[in-house]
Amino acid sequence: MSNASPPFDKIALLGIGLIGSSLARAAKKHGLAGHLAIYTRSPATLAKAKELNLGDSYSDDPAEAVQDADLVVLCVPMGAYESVAKAMAPGLKPGSIVSDVGSTKQSVFGDVMAHLPAGIHLVPAHPVAGTAESGPEAGYAKLFEDHWCILTPAPGTDRAAIDKVQDMWSRCGMMVEEMDAAHHDHVLAITSHLPQLISYTIVGTVTDLQDDLKKEVTKFAAGGLRDFTRIAASDPVMWRDVCLKNKDAVLDVLGRFTEDLTALQRSIRRGEGEALHEAFTRTREIRRGVIEAKQDFIDVKTEDNGKP
Ligand code: NAP
Repeated sequence: MSNASPPFDKIALLGIGLIGSSLARAAKKHGLAGHLAIYTRSPATLAKAKELNLGDSYSDDPAEAVQDADLVVLCVPMGAYESVAKAMAPGLKPGSIVSDVGSTKQSVFGDVMAHLPAGIHLVPAHPVAGTAESGPEAGYAKLFEDHWCILTPAPGTDRAAIDKVQDMWSRCGMMVEEMDAAHHDHVLAITSHLPQLISYTIVGTVTDLQDDLKKEVTKFAAGGLRDFTRIAASDPVMWRDVCLKNKDAVLDVLGRFTEDLTALQRSIRRGEGEALHEAFTRTREIRRGVIEAKQDFIDVKTEDNGKP
């Protein structure tokens, strides 16, 4: 932490699970706020956040937590945005910035914008970083480092507000890019939501197998299933909300995927070896691109986890 004054006098984090607690830890580590206020709804999570010393003040009331905050960051599941936005609105400081970390972006405007008083700057954001864990103990300050953060402000949003949110994520070690919210939702439906749904489906198929076969499958999971089980262990509430909030884009990519899978099925049935070889060759190009873009890493907890 440097001796320079923090970029925000007060940041309020609404939600202190994996992402909220990682941001709390990163905010302390990088000196982002003079005061860090934390809201969470349950007494158990509030007590855990205190025990982990994640903030400077703690509340179970969103309007109380956001009092005098220059920046408010929603870190709750997307299905809770509307109720939390309504509850915090009376406490917001005039001219303050409201941002979030949600995995879908178009829905933020309907769920949050409509409840903000005039003069509040809404700068939606999505730090594209995470693990399959949940809760305040799961977070760690380095979670965001070397990952992308996508900002999706509406046209005409105050430039200074956007720059402040961008600066916060840059200080957390993220590479920041601005994008139209609809474009974000389509891109993420392909890169994140589709793989997640495929993982849930594959592991769901295994779950329905007879017990004796299931035992064998678990034993030999290293043959390919293992990585799907890791992804399919992600929080069901978060992923339920992502599907419902990004319905159109998710249905679009699922439709394309189903068509491609059916074509593959037909090639196998007809014994079309050349078609299969062609399908399995062109995909290597994407893998090369992922490696070149330095996106080939697995997020793991690091030594500073739990020690803000
Ligand atoms: P999490 O670990 O499950 O934590 C959720 C937090 O929200 C907890 O403080 C919880 O409070 C609170 N909460 C849950 N339901 C609520 C409700 N109905 N009303 C008010 N508060 C509620 O979740 P997370 O993984 O940090 O995800 C938070 C957000 O980050 C989501 O919007 C998600 O889309 C986004 N995101 C997640 C990831 C990821 O990999 N997990 C990555 C990028 C973005 P209590 O414990 O007190 O109930």
